[in-house]
Amino acid sequence: MAKLLTGLLVALVIAYLAFRAKALNKSGGVAAALLGTIVFGLGGLDWALILLIFFISSSALSKFFEKKKGISGENFLKGSRRDAWQVAANGGMAGLLALSYFILSRFSPGSEVLPPLWIGFGASLAAANADTWGTELGLLNPSNPVLLSTFKRVPKGTSGGVSMVGTLASLGGSALVGGAVGLLASAGWGHGGDMRPFLQFLVITGSGLFGAFVDSLLGASLQAIYYCPVCKKETEQHPLHRCGNLTEHLRGLMWLNNDWVNAACTISAGIMGLLLAILLN
Ligand SMILES: [Zn+2]
Repeated sequence: MAKLLTGLLVALVIAYLAFRAKALNKSGGVAAALLGTIVFGLGGLDWALILLIFFISSSALSKFFEKKKGISGENFLKGSRRDAWQVAANGGMAGLLALSYFILSRFSPGSEVLPPLWIGFGASLAAANADTWGTELGLLNPSNPVLLSTFKRVPKGTSGGVSMVGTLASLGGSALVGGAVGLLASAGWGHGGDMRPFLQFLVITGSGLFGAFVDSLLGASLQAIYYCPVCKKETEQHPLHRCGNLTEHLRGLMWLNNDWVNAACTISAGIMGLLLAILLN
């Protein structure tokens, strides 16, 4: 109980700091505090460390590129302040895997599924990091990205657009989380069981990159895209464009917005990491 309260307190402080730093809006702050309480309060330092590596590096990059996006990021759905939906899309799967770990460890402490749940937790956050790093740092690519479905060049920030710099950044974002889990494991920390630290690193980094690929593929194919008749531009913004006018549905599934695509990214990576860890252990 004391651990849970400490977790709640730490989560509240971090969510508040992120709110003050304008990395989260109000609903995003509440969602992050809830996620943090589960992960810090039920898990502990190593769980918290992995969540914070994602949260701090992603938030910092998003803040850093906020100004650049104002010029070139017409297509982005939301600003750099994350709301509750974005927090759930990025961290919900990790929270669910962590919660599953804690519940299972109460009833079946020696279960073989526990280490794979930890790897899945890392993989899902690696994917969220890969996606954010790829999106933000991808803006630095000298040429416009190529759409993964048609291979045509699209404006920077378009969902489903891939570039060399963006892909390398995704790899870096994923490897940062994978590397942290691997380092923890080599220091005797973490919960990867008998799995070799380097294999933990590879599985998490690879799964994270896989999630980012699923994200780009969905973004390029099924994600809802709208059109602003006033600005004559494609956008993810709906019902209102940033100019204040109503946008019209152009293509894609109406319900499949950027938050669902991000959720598909973290869920697919979490499942991939979990399955690989079960297969390779
Ligand atoms: Zn407009």
